[in-house]
Amino acid sequence: MSVLLLFFDGLGIGTRGRHNPLHLLGEDASPLAVFQDEEPRLPFGGLLARTDARLGVEGRPQSASGQTTILTGVNVPATLGYHKQGFPNAAMREIIREHSVFLRLKRLGVGPNAFANAYSPRFFAQRPRWVAATTVAVEAAGIPFRTLEDLKAGRAVYHDFTNRFLVELGADVPLRTPEEAAEIVARLADENRFTLYEHFIADRAGHEQNMDAALDLLRELTRFVRAVLARVELSRTTVVLTSDHGNVEDLSKRNHTLNPVPTLAWGRDSARVASRVRSLADITPALVELLTSAEAAA
Ligand SMILES: [Zn+2]
Repeated sequence: MSVLLLFFDGLGIGTRGRHNPLHLLGEDASPLAVFQDEEPRLPFGGLLARTDARLGVEGRPQSASGQTTILTGVNVPATLGYHKQGFPNAAMREIIREHSVFLRLKRLGVGPNAFANAYSPRFFAQRPRWVAATTVAVEAAGIPFRTLEDLKAGRAVYHDFTNRFLVELGADVPLRTPEEAAEIVARLADENRFTLYEHFIADRAGHEQNMDAALDLLRELTRFVRAVLARVELSRTTVVLTSDHGNVEDLSKRNHTLNPVPTLAWGRDSARVASRVRSLADITPALVELLTSAEAAA
C-alpha cells in the first residue's frame, strides 16, 4: 500500500459568507470547502479530521513552524515556544534533519519515497539562503530534487501545477491542465510508498486579499484534487490532504486565521487517519504507522 500527502499552504476551516471564496464557489469548491459547524459531504468517500494548527501556543499559526510540525510530528511551537513564519530557522532545520517523515521511513526501510515537486533551474544555480521545510526534509533524507527535465518527462509537477509561473519566467515547459498534473501525481503515488506534493499559492492569495485570484486558483486546485482522487487506486492508496494554518478562507483579513485546518483522508486507511489526527503534530505519526503496520506490506 502507499500514501500520498497533499500539502496546501493557508487553507483553513472558515465560516460561510462573502469573505470566504470557498463559500462563494459552492459545489465547485468540494472537497476543499469545509465550514465550521457543518458536516461536509466529501466526494470519493472522504473523511474529515478537524485539525488544530495553534498547537497550544499564543499567536497566529505560521508556515515554518506549522510545516515543520506536519513533516516531523514534533510540536514545534510548543517545543520552541513560538510560531515562526516563512522559512525554518536553524532550530527547526535541526528538528527536520532528525525527525522528518522521509527520514523516519528511510530508517524503517520503507521506500521508495518521493517529493513530487520540481525545482526551477534558479534553485540549483544559486541556492536561496532560506529554503522551505520540505526542501530541508527532502535533502536530509537523500531524496533527489526533481528538475524541469523530470517535469517535462512527466515525472514531476511544479508547485504551480499548471506551469504558468514557469512559462512566465521563460522556461520551455508545456502548460498543463489540473487533470494532466493530477495524472502525474497519481502515477508517482502508485510508484512510491510515500509521495508528497506541496502547493502554497493559496496562502499568497490570502495575504493579497485578492478574491478573483483566489476564486480562480481554488477552482483549479479543487479540479486537481478531484482528478487525483479519480486516478489514484484508492483500494491500495491512502490520500491525505492537510494545511499548516488558515488564511484563504477569510479574505477580510490579510493575516493567517486562528481557524483549525481540514485534514482530509481518502482510500484504503482513511478511517485510521481520520480517527488519529487531532493536531498538525499527529500527521507524521499517523502516516508512519500506516506505512509500517503489519498489513502495510500487502
Ligand atoms: Zn502565509
